[in-house]
Formats: sequence, C-alpha cells, structure tokens
Amino acid sequence: RAKADGRGTFCFFRDEMAATVEARRILELDLRKALANEEFELFYQPLVNLKSGKISTCEALLRWNHPVRGTVSPVDIIPVAEDMGLIVDLGRWILRRACMECMKWPDGVSVAVNFSPQQFHQRDVLSEIRYALEVSGLPAHRLEIEITESSLLRNTQLTHDILSQLHALGVRISLDDFGTGYSSLSYLHNFPMQKVKIDRSFLEGIDADRPLTLLRGVARLSADLGMAVVVEGIETNEQLELISADGTVTEGQGYLFSRPVPAVRVRQLLNASHGRHIHDGQVVS
Ligand code: C2E
Ligand code: MG
Ligand code: MG
Ligand code: MG
Repeated sequence: RAKADGRGTFCFFRDEMAATVEARRILELDLRKALANEEFELFYQPLVNLKSGKISTCEALLRWNHPVRGTVSPVDIIPVAEDMGLIVDLGRWILRRACMECMKWPDGVSVAVNFSPQQFHQRDVLSEIRYALEVSGLPAHRLEIEITESSLLRNTQLTHDILSQLHALGVRISLDDFGTGYSSLSYLHNFPMQKVKIDRSFLEGIDADRPLTLLRGVARLSADLGMAVVVEGIETNEQLELISADGTVTEGQGYLFSRPVPAVRVRQLLNASHGRHIHDGQVVS
C-alpha cells in the first residue's frame, strides 16, 4: 500500500508510528484495568546490615502479572503510569500494600517504598502516608521512602517542607540511585534525608586499576553528614569486600544477598537471616 500511493518511506514510518501509538493505547487501557483486576504484585529485596549480616529493610518492587504478556518490569510500567497520571492511584496501592506486608515481619525490619516525583509532589502526600500507617498499624519508623534526585529538583521550599514534616512524623527518607542524575552533592546537605543509596553504576568495572575512589568519597561525605549509606547492586563477594573495607557503608543490597522475591518468600528470608548472612536467598553462616 505504501508504494502504491507513491509516498513509500513516509507512509511506512507513519504506519510504524500508528502501530506504536496503538500499542501504547492498549498498554494504557490494560494498565487502567490492572489495578481493579489485582494484577499488580509487590516483590521485596532485602537491604542487609553489613556489620550484623541481618536484614534491616526490604524494598518493595512492583511487578505486573499481565494475563497475556506475563511479568512486566516496573521500568516499563512506571513511566507510562506517570504519563497517564495513574501513578498516584498505583502508588497509593503500593504504599498501603507494602505497609501491611511489613506488619507481618519482625519489629526490627522496615519496608522501603519507591515514590515517583509526581507521587511525592501530590498535594496531600503527607495525609496519604499518615493514612497508610494508620490503616496498617505500622509505626512510622518502620517506613522508609525512596525518592530520586528528580524529586528534589522542583519547588525547593515545598520539597524541603515535605521532607521536614516526614522526618517529624518519624518516616525515613532515602535518596535512591544517587550518582545517576544531577548528582548535586549539595542535595545531601540541603535536604533532611536519613539515607543515601549509591547507584550500582559505581560498582561497574571496579578493580585494582579503577578503585572505588568515587564511591568511597560519596560514602564518606554522606556518613559525615550523618546519613546511613547503602550500596546497591552488589553481585560478587569481591565487591562486598571492597565496599566493606573501611566500615563507612552501613548496608548493602544486590543479587549477592538476594534477588527481589515474592511476599511469601520474604518471611523465609527473614527467618533464615537471624544473625547470619544470607547469600542469594540461601543461608550461609
Ligand atoms: P530501584 O528502586 O533503584 O530498584 C533497584 C532495581 O535494581 C530493581 O529493579 C532490582 O531488581 C535491581 N537490582 C537489585 N540488585 C541488583 C543487582 O545486584 N544487579 C542488578 N543488575 N540489578 C539489581 P526493578 O525491580 O526492575 O526496578 C527497577 C526500577 O523501577 C526501580 O529502581 C525503581 O526506580 C522503579 N520501581 C520499582 N518499583 C517501583 C514502585 O513501586 N514505585 C515506583 N515509583 N518506582 C518503582
Ligand atoms: Mg529503590
Ligand atoms: Mg535504587
Ligand atoms: Mg537503581
């Protein structure tokens, strides 16, 4: 058909675009239905205290069990949900579900919930969080909210106020993926946050020639500012040894300890980790 009307390439691209637009439209329709149809699920990945070897926190990570497409990654869901404005409803579901799940864990274990900028900047974010704590019965100090640098970009004064009020409430704020975005070191000291998660890209290709200079610098600075320091994406024992060497990094997260697991498996991980190190979901003493 494209050739017949003499506008070959143009028509081809137009059809491709139409197909993309159509695929996107279907995805959006499916996403709207998914919440009502209970197709979303939260997986959890532990953060391990490097001194004790115990799980301190489990991070909730969204999965979508699509009836046809199978498991869909949050990387494909979250940006679309943000564009659609669905992230607020979806985020509310995630927060409440995560708080309820955490209530089933031992007192010393917290839950971390990722917040997208839109969700973080919704007008009633504080009442959303207070309500989630209230209905679940979870004490505020067991909730950790992960935001990224993009949440700190706009409306500085307002952002500062929200963070201060969350802090007053007893909820911890964790700066996720640090080092991937605008990475202003001043964020660490200008905003009241209790934890920084250094992005796993800092671990890429480290060896004797390319030591952990940058990671150590960021870790020390954060620790000096009174923040807990997490390194994400730990996959090997060598990486674990390197980052544990000077005691600045408080927690680690990564496939070495465990991949994200379904809720039913969290309690197994927690039971198994009593005072011992966990390794890829298996207990190693
Ligand atoms: P994130 O919050 O930085 O989460 C860490 C991601 O890295 C997870 O991917 C996790 O499975 C993966 N990961 C953990 N350890 C390792 C490792 O050792 N090696 C490697 N290669 N990867 C590791 P996942 O679950 O696909 O989530 C991707 C991103 O999607 C998250 O990054 C977060 O930004 C977003 N996301 C996930 N769940 C939610 C949610 O409930 N709400 C919001 N707003 N965003 C979410
Ligand atoms: Mg996160
Ligand atoms: Mg992260
Ligand atoms: Mg990340």
